[in-house]
Amino acid sequence: MTDRYANFAHSGAGKFFIRRLGLPDPPKLRRHDPNTPLIDGQVLVNGGGRLVEPVRKLLEKLGAPLEGPTAALVFDATAIVDIDGLRALYDFFHPLIRTLRSSGRVIVFGSPPELCATAREATAQRALEGFVRSVGKEIGRGGTAQLVYVAPGAEEAIESTMRFLLSARSAYVSGQVVRVGPAAVDVPEDWDQPLVGRTAIVTGAARGIGAAIAAVLTRDGAHVVCLDVPAAGEDLTRVANDLKGTALQLDLTTEDAPRRLADFIATRHVHADIFVHNAGITRDKTLARMDADQWQSVLDVNLGSQERINDVLLAENLLGGNGRIVAVSSVSGIAGNRGQTNYATSKAGVIGLVQAHAPALAAAGLTLNAVAPGFIETKMTATMPMLIREAGRRMNSLSQGGLPVDVAETIAWLAHPASGGVNGNVVRVCGQSLLGA
Ligand code: NAD
Repeated sequence: MTDRYANFAHSGAGKFFIRRLGLPDPPKLRRHDPNTPLIDGQVLVNGGGRLVEPVRKLLEKLGAPLEGPTAALVFDATAIVDIDGLRALYDFFHPLIRTLRSSGRVIVFGSPPELCATAREATAQRALEGFVRSVGKEIGRGGTAQLVYVAPGAEEAIESTMRFLLSARSAYVSGQVVRVGPAAVDVPEDWDQPLVGRTAIVTGAARGIGAAIAAVLTRDGAHVVCLDVPAAGEDLTRVANDLKGTALQLDLTTEDAPRRLADFIATRHVHADIFVHNAGITRDKTLARMDADQWQSVLDVNLGSQERINDVLLAENLLGGNGRIVAVSSVSGIAGNRGQTNYATSKAGVIGLVQAHAPALAAAGLTLNAVAPGFIETKMTATMPMLIREAGRRMNSLSQGGLPVDVAETIAWLAHPASGGVNGNVVRVCGQSLLGA
């Protein structure tokens, strides 16, 4: 699906008109390219908390340049214990924010408010959210801003998150609050191929976002089992063959689907290391016009199937140690959406599922997280009425829709062996959509 407005905006005439008329100006986002360095400019680090040293060590390890254009501003706010301390944010960012290059990065590290020793400290730490979300809206030129709450004891568990948020892989993720907790970190031998030797199962992989997830996990070294309904068999085989993966035709809503899936995993792969619940459908109608089947089918595919499959994966120990489950929710599940009572209920339920199960899974060394995409350019969004589609594309800090690969890169970070401390998160991939912000 092409965004004709963005193409026009990037042309000479387009730039002129857009500036004159004050129209949204979608910047070209820098996306992952294996031939360019992870960090292509200097990273300025400030703040005086417990993360400064681990962050500096990590930047040295990553070979971040010490001069050149400013690629990122990183502030460790974990030393801030009261409102007065928040002034340090202004003092650091005010003179530097304009020096950030295009697709620049702002990362603020904080302490989870619920773990703070005093109410004053918790207040100041909670205040960081407002700062970061506003910076995300102001930064412009494809820049992003995130807040990472790092629990005490998790200082050495931030590498996969730092790499993702500093790099072009997080192109369409902005204004997010991520939590990292203490966990044993499984550092891969090769950070470019962290999933070598792992098996991933991706549902709804015949097209759209699912096909992109399968491709990115394959790029990262996983053997991917691409699952979709028999009716999508031809596309599924093509995707799986292109990736040298395995095709599995299965309708997730059939009664025997969990059993068939469990038998498949047990007989073919011994265990699955990564399970991505991506399959989803929409049957949009306002509530008054919606028939019972439109309600039920959406709840069943988008939420019920995830619950039934998680149950069997966990009950029969089918996920390997350090296993990862990633569920695809939606910004509609956070903000609600007219004509989507069924869809938003299912996608909010996905968030509920993640939050209900994640703490117990951590004890078993597993993680469960969700991504909530906003407007992503796929066949699903191509069928929207034109005006709604245009509004969806522009109503975010980056003034454009995301690409399936943006969702896939976020899932690859959550599925990473070194992301053991990233559990129970819901990460929006929405360019900081105004909806439900
Ligand atoms: P899509 O319609 O292009 O692909 C969904 C895939 O799921 C299809 O291949 C379909 O055959 C498969 N599927 C549907 N029912 C199934 C079943 N019962 N068993 C097995 N497979 C089944 O959709 P997409 O745009 O790629 O969306 C992927 C996911 O992202 C969905 O969960 C969707 O709700 C979510 N999402 C998409 C957007 C967006 O802007 N496209 C935004 C938010 C969330």
